[in-house]
Amino acid sequence: MSRKYRVGILGATGTVGQRFVQLLENHPQFEITALAASERSADKPFSEACAWKLAGAMPDYVKDIIVQPIAPPLDCDIVFSSLPSNVARETEEAFARAGYPVISNSSSYRMDEDVPLLIPEINHAHLGLIEIQQRKRGFTTGFIVTNPNCAVMSFAPPLAALDRKFGVESVFVTTLQAISGAGYPGVSSFDIIDNVMPYIAGEEPKVETEAQKILGEFNGSSIEKADFTVSAQCFRVNVLDGHTASVRVKLRQTSTLEGVMEAMKSFPSLNLRSSPQHFIDVCDEPSRPQPRLDRENGGGMTITVGRLFPDNIFDYRFVALSHNTVRGAAGSAILNAELLIDKRII
Ligand code: NAP
Repeated sequence: MSRKYRVGILGATGTVGQRFVQLLENHPQFEITALAASERSADKPFSEACAWKLAGAMPDYVKDIIVQPIAPPLDCDIVFSSLPSNVARETEEAFARAGYPVISNSSSYRMDEDVPLLIPEINHAHLGLIEIQQRKRGFTTGFIVTNPNCAVMSFAPPLAALDRKFGVESVFVTTLQAISGAGYPGVSSFDIIDNVMPYIAGEEPKVETEAQKILGEFNGSSIEKADFTVSAQCFRVNVLDGHTASVRVKLRQTSTLEGVMEAMKSFPSLNLRSSPQHFIDVCDEPSRPQPRLDRENGGGMTITVGRLFPDNIFDYRFVALSHNTVRGAAGSAILNAELLIDKRII
């Protein structure tokens, strides 16, 4: 715990990059020593390159850091990546090859079979893939670890709780995703005000496939994906932060409503610095969870579940909410880094 790791952020000026800057201020294990973004931002002080969009002022400690291009070497021990997926693939590999642990928010490597798709509370055994990845790709000390799509993050934890106790057979999910999920400037105000967009490019395939990998078993050489089907529809809604998922689930074993609720409530959190007290919070109030009221639950790291009832077609239905730029992005990546340190992989 005494050592401070120097971290670099790729895509530091963006929506997720700014959340990293905010969450890493005063972090006992990490200090930001490098910020990188596109050529538009490179060579400028962060205060000039970044149009700060989070509530509160840009932290002083980053203002004078000169933004660099997204190429190794960077003066840091660990790289957090929040690059668009089209540039992430090549860049993250270059950093991993140059010896850096790369902890990525982008979708580029999530489904590669030798890359962990991590939710520390659920599948830290998947870290066993790192050695395999290093051997296969010829990486020495570097590697790539990813965190899930921000909408998947809202419903994979309650599904994991149900899968462990009763087995999950099939899932129908409708996501209501916040504007900040599209980055900045993201969706045009003209398109989203007074509106619901029934299409998010590339989202439904991710929401239909990532949970099976996350809930899969590491067998010593690969991940055996969990055996259930997900059917998804993804919507962009006029909410600033916080992705909501409306979920219906069919279980392999029958359970009472109390059993389902207890499985979620009792799913343990971890004891890492960014771990929330409750990984999954199940609320009773009939009108919750709501993004505006519940997205900051557990500092944005708790998954809030409500509206849990038996369903007429599936077995149970519920609504799950998570903060898309905290638990769905920067906060999860930081938790992953804390786990890697705790497991002495970094
Ligand atoms: P964003 O607000 O558009 O920010 C993109 C960042 O990448 C900026 O720092 C930008 O730098 C940089 N960038 C863009 N094109 C580049 C290029 N060609 N070369 C180098 N740098 C480039 O996007 P975001 O919402 O932060 O998302 C970043 C990544 O995280 C994406 O892969 C996204 O899918 C993923 N993600 C986002 C969320 C979310 O809720 N927003 C959640 C989970 C995962 P400039 O400022 O210099 O242009």
